[in-house]
Amino acid sequence: MIRPAPSIDALPAATPFIGPERLMREQGRGELVRLGANESAFGPSPIAVAAMRAEMDRVAWYGDPDSLELRDALAIKHGCSPENVLVGAGIDDVMGLAVRGWVAPGGLAVASRGTYPTFEYHVRGYGGRVERVDYRDDGTPDYQALIARAHAVKPAIVYLANPDNPSGAFAPRKQIERFYAALPDDTLFVLDEAYADFVEDEELLAPTFDDRLFRMRTFSKAYGMAGARIGYVLTTLQNIGTLQKIRLQYGVNRNAQIGALACLRDDEFKRRVVTETARGRDEYAALARELELAVLPSRTNFVCIDVGDATRATRIVAELLKRGVWIRKPGAPPLDRCIRASVGTAPMRAAFAQALRDVLVEVPA
Ligand SMILES: *Cc1c(COP(=O)(O)O)cnc(C)c1O
Repeated sequence: MIRPAPSIDALPAATPFIGPERLMREQGRGELVRLGANESAFGPSPIAVAAMRAEMDRVAWYGDPDSLELRDALAIKHGCSPENVLVGAGIDDVMGLAVRGWVAPGGLAVASRGTYPTFEYHVRGYGGRVERVDYRDDGTPDYQALIARAHAVKPAIVYLANPDNPSGAFAPRKQIERFYAALPDDTLFVLDEAYADFVEDEELLAPTFDDRLFRMRTFSKAYGMAGARIGYVLTTLQNIGTLQKIRLQYGVNRNAQIGALACLRDDEFKRRVVTETARGRDEYAALARELELAVLPSRTNFVCIDVGDATRATRIVAELLKRGVWIRKPGAPPLDRCIRASVGTAPMRAAFAQALRDVLVEVPA
């Protein structure tokens, strides 16, 4: 009899995400207002699109396994050496490498309960276990409790997204400095900065290269290249040496390398996306006020709206889907009483607003 490896066989069947494509098939819909995955509604920079188009015929070639041109550009952006940068197929990929590299089978990691699920997915997949720490009731990560748990269980990794998903919360530079300094000396701090582009550089942790620190960035959010799958990690030469032993040499899409390099040259486009995203968040806050609902402060491209309880939130998400509007909701308390909507273009926001007004009448508190 053929059996999977025991460690894999023992895993529960789990899908961290159900994609909108499956929902469309199930609903028999050709189109959805896509506000569920924090994709950019503003697309990639036209300069990036032109660069990828011009190179399309060379998709017959593998990409540069060193991603050197892109790493050179990222090194300039981050004031480091290209040796401090490793490019992968999105944060999801480099996060998996961090877990595989540092969490031994049976090992521990610490993270907030209900935060970005791919982290725990990797930890389980590589035979480790996540010790979860509840968010505070206001929906912010409980930084003090994360530190306390880290000292109690001495995990291989502490994971934190900042700005956070799904809450949208943001801890400014000083607070992250204190958090990092308070972690145990032998714990790797995996700092997921998927939404870093929506805040100012001066608000983020300053460029810091320690063996205890692993920062991850992506082109999926503000740069609008989620489908291209490209992101990177910033860390020390020694840590990158570890990742070099296990990464896929040809795991990065050649077109993604070209698009990422090109969009780094289009600061103007990114600034417009960030500005329009802030406008969209304000619009969602005004919508919530109109509907007498609270919103959580967000520094990302999405907003959590508190609808009172988890059952109501689940029903609202389902009813919106019937009206062709796809959003998600956080899965764990206390955030599960919220719905989470990505910032869309103005017409997408208007469609969401109208559908939400209609749905709330049918799903009373
Ligand atoms: C969207 C998101 C990611 C995924 O990034 P990719 O580069 O597309 O893999 C990772 N972390 C957080 C917190 C996210 O919201």
